[in-house]
Amino acid sequence: MTALVLDRLTKLYGDHAAVDALSLTVAQGEFLVLLGPSGCGKTTTLRMIAGFVEASQGSVSLSGRDITRDPPHRRNIGVVFQNYALFPHLSVFENVAFGLRRRKRPEAEIRTRVARALGLVRLDGFADRSSKQLSGGQQQRVAIARALVIEPDILLLDEPLSALDAKLRLEVRQELKALQRLLGITTILVTHDQDEAMSLGDRLVVMHAGRVEQIGSPQQLYREPASRFVASFIGRGNFLEGTGTGHSFTTRNGWTLAAARPLDRAATVLIRPESITLAPTAGAAMVPARVALVTYLGPIAEVALELAGGDRLVVEQASGGWLDGVEPGREIGVGIPPEAVVGLGAEGVAGA
Ligand code: ATP
Repeated sequence: MTALVLDRLTKLYGDHAAVDALSLTVAQGEFLVLLGPSGCGKTTTLRMIAGFVEASQGSVSLSGRDITRDPPHRRNIGVVFQNYALFPHLSVFENVAFGLRRRKRPEAEIRTRVARALGLVRLDGFADRSSKQLSGGQQQRVAIARALVIEPDILLLDEPLSALDAKLRLEVRQELKALQRLLGITTILVTHDQDEAMSLGDRLVVMHAGRVEQIGSPQQLYREPASRFVASFIGRGNFLEGTGTGHSFTTRNGWTLAAARPLDRAATVLIRPESITLAPTAGAAMVPARVALVTYLGPIAEVALELAGGDRLVVEQASGGWLDGVEPGREIGVGIPPEAVVGLGAEGVAGA
């Protein structure tokens, strides 16, 4: 079932389109993540859904109803911001009760629902505290409880974890994921952190300059990025430029790679660092390459290689074994499995 539909949603500031004819559909219960670099229009999109920013063109429909021109308080949307935005002069209880009081719910119902919401974010017993007496993680939990207590049709989260330190961010991230699953609430989160996006999202929307660059599951975006922009934004990659012909690709430096899929339209190929195989010597299906640098990162070693024609690769391998003794300057063998060669088109055009 569809929860939210954005149809050619656009925000113009002067003649600059901060969001440019963005269309997407969010399913009931889905966790969708808007991901992209600073200034790509993520926050503006979220604010148009919430009603804090007026759309210039296009529409927003929630649960089958066009809400494009509705004021924020009539949209039944829960919003959590990066900076908590709690009312400092109110207790935790009153912060969470705020939306219910605005809706003029009876006192007994408010007590029950606030207690339930605080229980969900593991803050039972904190109701009477002043919100100033809370840690950052606790404040963000209160903000989540405040958004959930109104039983919104959709939960919007604008970089909700970025003000927390690294350890707490992971903790609250896991709690958020568990809570979203438990309640089955349709959720949209904005972030520029790819790890956060990959670990939370059922689907990710990668945005670039106000437009959707690609939508897909974390696995799809990682394995089959539609453009170099997506490939470099999600994970790390080796990018080799050249020309594709049938099931092969020849780099500008003259190295020909076999590919599992036809690459006739590809101008660049992506090879993920962990998909490359190394051997102590060149041989069958292993071409010679010179080691430029080996960096040990605990369980993984990162090996920078240079091939005879000048192509360079970064490879990630499990450390240990023969790789331990390898010094820069040594020649080893490198193999690229054909299925690891992913074609990308010219910038902005989906590859083969
Ligand atoms: P960040 O990750 O830095 O928050 P973002 O992807 O959320 O970035 P937006 O805040 O949506 O990006 O901004 C998109 C574009 O719109 C940017 O170029 C920004 O400068 C512009 N913009 C946003 N708000 C306004 C405004 N009130 N007036 C003019 N331009 C704006």
